[in-house]
Amino acid sequence: MRKIGLIGGMSFEGSSVYYRQINEAVRTQLGALHSAELLMFSVDFQGIVDMQKSNRWDDAGRRLADVGRALEDAGAECVLICAVTMHLVADAVEAAIKVPLIHIIDETAKRLQAAGCQRPLLIATRYSMENGFYQERMKRHDIGVVVPDADGRTKVHSIIFDELCAGKVVDSSRDVLIALIEKAKADGADSVIFGCTEICLILETDKLPLPGFDSTAIHGEAAVAFALGNPL
Ligand code: GLU
Repeated sequence: MRKIGLIGGMSFEGSSVYYRQINEAVRTQLGALHSAELLMFSVDFQGIVDMQKSNRWDDAGRRLADVGRALEDAGAECVLICAVTMHLVADAVEAAIKVPLIHIIDETAKRLQAAGCQRPLLIATRYSMENGFYQERMKRHDIGVVVPDADGRTKVHSIIFDELCAGKVVDSSRDVLIALIEKAKADGADSVIFGCTEICLILETDKLPLPGFDSTAIHGEAAVAFALGNPL
C-alpha cells in the first residue's frame, strides 16, 4: 500500500472527514482490520485564514509547499491539499514535491464528466467562487461552472467560515443552501458541486434537487485508488 500525505487542518472539521472516509474505504476494499497508511500534517488554520483575508497567497503557497515537502520527506507517496480554496496555491505545492499532487478539481471534473454533467453550481468559499482559479481549471475539462449571485455567495461563505469550520451545523443554513440549489436548477444548472471540504457536514448528495458531487469524498476516493495501486 502506498502512503497518502494529507495537508490538513483547513479546517480540522473537514480533515476529520478525510481521515475517516479514507480509512473506511481501505477497510471496505481490503477487508479485516485493514486501514490506510497515511500521514497528516495538520496546520493551525488561523494562520492560513489570516493570509487568505489579507490576500497573501504567495505566503500561503510557500507555507503549504513547506508542508508538502515535509510530508514527502516523511514518506508520503502522494500529497492532497484537504481544502478546495487552498488549491489556489496548488501549483506552488506541486512544484515543491516530486510525488504526485492529487488535485481536487481535476478529480471532481472526472466524476462530472462520467455523469454527463456540464453546468454545475459551485458551492464554495468566496475565494473559490470569485477568484477564477476554480472555473479556469474546470474549463480545461470542458465544464462550465456557475456560482450563486452576490448575496448567495456572501451567505455560503459565512455558512462555511462562521458555522461549519467552527463546528456548527445550523438547520436554517441547510435551507439556505437548498434554496440556492433550487434557484440554480431553475436557471439551468444540471448538478451541484460541494466545492468546499466542509459542505458534506451539512448536505447529503442524495437529498438535493440536483445531482450532487462531494469534493471531499471524491478526493479521498482518488487517494485510496492511488494507495491501493488502482489507476487514478
Ligand atoms: N475547507 C474549505 C475549502 O475547502 C474552506 C477553508 C479554506 O478556506 O481553506 O475551501
